[in-house]
Amino acid sequence: MKNLIVYPHNSLDVHLAAVGRKKTSDSKRKLISIENNVRTDYSEYDLHFYDNKLEYLQKKPFYQIFKSDLQSLYDYQNKTITEVKGHIEKLQVRTIRNTCQNCTINSANTLDHILPQGDFPEYIVNPKNLFPCCSQCNSYKNKYLEANGVKLFLNLYLDNLPEEQYLFVHFDFDENDEIDFNYRLENYYGIDDKIFALIESHYEKLHLLERMRLRANEVYSEIENSILSGLNKLSLEMIFEEIKENISNDQKAYGFNHWKCVLKLALINDMKYSEYIEEKKERTRA
Ligand SMILES: [Zn+2]
Repeated sequence: MKNLIVYPHNSLDVHLAAVGRKKTSDSKRKLISIENNVRTDYSEYDLHFYDNKLEYLQKKPFYQIFKSDLQSLYDYQNKTITEVKGHIEKLQVRTIRNTCQNCTINSANTLDHILPQGDFPEYIVNPKNLFPCCSQCNSYKNKYLEANGVKLFLNLYLDNLPEEQYLFVHFDFDENDEIDFNYRLENYYGIDDKIFALIESHYEKLHLLERMRLRANEVYSEIENSILSGLNKLSLEMIFEEIKENISNDQKAYGFNHWKCVLKLALINDMKYSEYIEEKKERTRA
């Protein structure tokens, strides 16, 4: 997971452009009539956004009357939306641009409304409220807050991810010598309690530990194959050294707690894995 760069321009201009592009209709006239309200609320959004206190924004019953008009602005066929989507993407580093940073598993094929569009239709095209996301994560993100007002998900525009390790994977061999992985979150390295609790909630609500577990075997077989073929030329220590170097580059590119990096680290740091791979090599030789 990496933090994303925020849309740097005036958000209200996107709203105004989307209204401007609408065909003349009752709906367009209604949207023009509430432009001053939207203007005020976009300023309020920005204030809370830059304080990272979006949870303080209250749902406004006023906009519920205009909900369908506002929702009509958000349309993937609409030029304003495609432009904003393209703009947000281009701001990001190429290596993570097309991957959902909420999970780092799937492609970012949708935009998530950070404050849900049902409760906050006024921010439906606000680019600071739109976060590139996969459809799976998006489907789990139907509310933003717990009933007691506590945030449920990381906002990766704003919540700085710690560099300490918090994601771990445990592995074991089953009776057929197949490897099984189990991801878990641990705060061994003194990460601030508040951000760690938010990380836990984010992982839980998006089912990330299970989703990572399901993908781990496919990544693992690639790793194992490359280790086994490397052993034709190099010693296991040399191969592990090389993997270690790659991990540290990957952590810079994809985030310190990227699930693939965590998996590789767990393997090369565990004696039982070295033994397993040596045995496997012997068996293939025999
Ligand atoms: Zn995702």
